[in-house]
Amino acid sequence: MGRTALLRRIIAAPALPVAAFGGMAAGAALVPGAAPYASAAIAFAAVAWIGSLQRVMRDVTRRVIDLTEISDADFAPDLETGVAGLESRLRSLSHRIAEIHPVSGLPVREQLVERIADAPEGWLGLIAFSDFDRLSAFDPALADRVFAACAARLRAMVPPDRFLAQVDRGLIGLWFGAGVAQDQAASQLQAIGYALGEQVSDGDTHIIPQVAHRLARYDPAVGILPDAFVARAIAAFGTGGDGPAIVVDPAVDPGEIARDRYALEQDLRRAIDRRELRLAYQPLVDGVAGQLIGAEALIRWDHPTRGPISPVQFIPVIEAMGLSAEIGTWALNTAVREAQRWAAAGLGQLRVAVNVSSSQLEGAGFVDLVQRTLRSHGVAASQLEIELTESVATSDAAHCRTIFEALRTFGVRLAVDDFGTGYSGFSSLRALAFDKIKIDREFVTNVDTRRDSQAICQSIIALGRGLGIRVLAEGVERHAEYHWLRTHGCSLFQGYLFGRPMEPAAFLALAQDRAWLDALVAPPVLPPISMERLAV
Ligand code: C2E
Ligand code: CA
Ligand code: CA
Repeated sequence: MGRTALLRRIIAAPALPVAAFGGMAAGAALVPGAAPYASAAIAFAAVAWIGSLQRVMRDVTRRVIDLTEISDADFAPDLETGVAGLESRLRSLSHRIAEIHPVSGLPVREQLVERIADAPEGWLGLIAFSDFDRLSAFDPALADRVFAACAARLRAMVPPDRFLAQVDRGLIGLWFGAGVAQDQAASQLQAIGYALGEQVSDGDTHIIPQVAHRLARYDPAVGILPDAFVARAIAAFGTGGDGPAIVVDPAVDPGEIARDRYALEQDLRRAIDRRELRLAYQPLVDGVAGQLIGAEALIRWDHPTRGPISPVQFIPVIEAMGLSAEIGTWALNTAVREAQRWAAAGLGQLRVAVNVSSSQLEGAGFVDLVQRTLRSHGVAASQLEIELTESVATSDAAHCRTIFEALRTFGVRLAVDDFGTGYSGFSSLRALAFDKIKIDREFVTNVDTRRDSQAICQSIIALGRGLGIRVLAEGVERHAEYHWLRTHGCSLFQGYLFGRPMEPAAFLALAQDRAWLDALVAPPVLPPISMERLAV
């Protein structure tokens, strides 16, 4: 059979488009784990593609039928032209289908990858419509329309030398191209984020889109291919939390991070039952009176396989998992029980300081919890101090004030932690009436030699004095730091110089030994090596 005859037979076969359509639609619906939306999108693309294919086929078939009376030799050039036309139309059609996303009308991820591959380096912005999934859960068509409206708005806003593509559900990539500085890309992305947050109206429905954005740096020198870069940037987007534009490091495999984080979460859920969490106690010292005044309770997690994990790593995970109330309750209970042991050992004047996170203060139950815990262990409220960071204390000042007033009424003290690292400034201190300010370690380290730290510490000490609030310096490691702070009016101290966070039994033994502190607070200075016995 000649080539033309074969083509004629193929073109005349009416079942082909139907079979192809049925096959693709069924294939789309059967993709394992595919969201219904993805199936619908594939089915939609298939319908569009097959619809066009059928039109092309009809054109060509008509011509073939018209030409059946003519010999191969006679119609060959026409058929050839027809087939060539068919091929080229199919090519352009498939190209178009691959390029344009049916929801947003924007180019798809592959096109973006091609753009990135052509560039020597550059920044990729990712813009997510965070509520897209929630909206599509109850009205997928509305979600698509809102997303399409936002995409259209974005297209009108972005200069032509930038490249936009829909890279995932509710997620658009903005390629800034080579030679654009990070600052410039970040500020443009920020501006876009604001503009996209404007209300979208769809008939009587008015929606304010929730927009989040991130920046990712593409640099082939780190040895990552453009498609892997885009995939990693998208994956990292989901693990990065909210906030202003941040830099995604595509060299770090977000799949690995996500797996690790998942495992950590699973383990954390079991950590309390398995008794893997414990509290360590770090001495708090009054340098003027030369006395131990209590301890800060610091959480520790001894992971069965990973070993000790820092609270800096797992406290944010606890927060994100919504477990802070549960773990916070455990920490408060454990610390207050320890304070009861101190009282039983005749050390009732020692106070335990407990760290409290913002989510623990939400709702109305915190004051009740504190009261119940103190009562159940028979511990005086004056033995408990609550530590809150500056930002927690000022995020919802009115709510905090109500809680603080209630706590203070029955005798619990309040300390503002990490003071100097937030932006709330001094007015909140007075409004919230804290009992203690803890100067962050950042300003304490090398305060004896650093002029900028000296200026900060001096003003915090002066502020405390002005407001009648005692000031504690955290992270004092060297005697020279202690000496400088002490001679500049700071009276309370915490840090490795006085003792590392230690086991409850070690702290109890330390509290009962009066001599150790005298040597530290009064000159001559003990060499740091003599502190080794205090470390855990
Ligand atoms: P933080 O409240 O500022 O605690 C002080 C941190 O500084 C502790 O780190 C402590 O071990 C460390 N530190 C104390 N003295 C020195 C020193 O002289 N030099 C140095 N280099 N470090 C010193 P840690 O125990 O790793 O705790 C880190 C943070 O985790 C705490 O910072 C606190 O924000 C949080 N955290 C710890 N326990 C709890 C808890 O029970 N609940 C909550 N919500 N957060 C907690
Ligand atoms: Ca603290
Ligand atoms: Ca602190």
